[in-house]
Amino acid sequence: MPDDAQTSPPSRATPPGLHLIATPIGTARDITLRALDLLAGADMLVAEDTRSLRHLMEIHAIPLRGRRVLAYHDHNGAKMRPVILSALEAGKSVVYASEAGTPLVADPGFQLARAVIAGGFDLHAAPGPSAALAALTVAGLPSDRFCFLGFAPPQASARRKFIAEAATIPATLIFYESPKRINQLLEALCDGLGADREAALCRELTKKHEEVLRMPLGALADALRARSLKGEIVLLVDRGKDRVADAQTLDAALTEALDEMRLKEAVAHVSQSLGLPRRQVYQAALAKEKAE
Ligand code: SAM
Repeated sequence: MPDDAQTSPPSRATPPGLHLIATPIGTARDITLRALDLLAGADMLVAEDTRSLRHLMEIHAIPLRGRRVLAYHDHNGAKMRPVILSALEAGKSVVYASEAGTPLVADPGFQLARAVIAGGFDLHAAPGPSAALAALTVAGLPSDRFCFLGFAPPQASARRKFIAEAATIPATLIFYESPKRINQLLEALCDGLGADREAALCRELTKKHEEVLRMPLGALADALRARSLKGEIVLLVDRGKDRVADAQTLDAALTEALDEMRLKEAVAHVSQSLGLPRRQVYQAALAKEKAE
């Protein structure tokens, strides 16, 4: 619930400490009034991408007042943390923004926040946009429990392991992915989770070309094969239903299918008819062949 005492703009400068502010993921007007106040009043401005923050301040007519915007990102964190900590030591207020959305959410800021806590300084959040929550809001998938998984590893075997771990999580799964790798991710998810799991692909949220595709993973993979997607993407996948085909049912279905089909077709057929992940059926088929 909003705190009434905090509704009016602050009459003084940003209070000392580190303020982690969320910035828009598309539409510039999604910045919060509080984030603008903090930017206007901070002693020190720090950003993952200094140009983006300067641009955002320009759009909202927040003057720099001679302040420089310092860069803090994955490659200079170790060097910059002492600079930020000594400003906090001197009682200054510091605002940090990642390139877009909420810092620390698939973005830098975690080690900085830890260092600030360890140093005994004040740490505050100015909450606002995040692509994960914006996508959850429009996906049409259960929102009672969700698990943010960020970017899947690009390397095939690491991605398989990552997906196998995700398969048993009883929650809506939220992935970030680049348009270049979305097709590979979808194929891997069909294999690891089953092509019939409901999913939603949310692209370019809050921007001109916003698009949400809501369909099972297999249909999504088919639909995207013919398209080359651009822009930023969040992919959400529904939790698995309780589809525990017992070993006997799986074995019987495989025996029948392997009598009539080659291994690959048999696996696809059984996984489809029992609603099981292709990978699980494939492993059962290999074990069966080995045992015979
Ligand atoms: N910190 C950000 C947040 O809170 O959402 C995420 C930063 S991460 C480096 C960037 C990824 O977020 C993109 O590759 C995409 O997966 C997702 N993303 C960011 N903006 C988006 C948008 N407007 N629509 C869909 N996905 C978006």
